[in-house]
Amino acid sequence: MQPDPDSESAGAEMHRSIMTAFCDVLRASRLPPMTVMNLAASALGAVYKEVANQHRSEGGCPCGWKPNPRADIAALQAALAASMESAPPADLRIMQVAGRA
Ligand SMILES: [Zn+2]
Repeated sequence: MQPDPDSESAGAEMHRSIMTAFCDVLRASRLPPMTVMNLAASALGAVYKEVANQHRSEGGCPCGWKPNPRADIAALQAALAASMESAPPADLRIMQVAGRA
């Protein structure tokens, strides 16, 4: 699947936001990087749950998405693994710049 330009720039924006939040929490909390990573993963799970809950209630959201936790979790885990295995060198540069500030 080839990402379209809109979803590519949305992905870049999400990447920047999460990197900024990760570096802020890492600096402020002084927790180990993997602990902060786990907090980020838990936060994403919490966001999923809140958004999914809103889509279960009548009149919650008109977009028509029907949450399917089992399939959605599998898709999110696959996306996490796929992006970790294919992290481009550019990602490391963002981390170094953000970490040094
Ligand atoms: Zn919706």
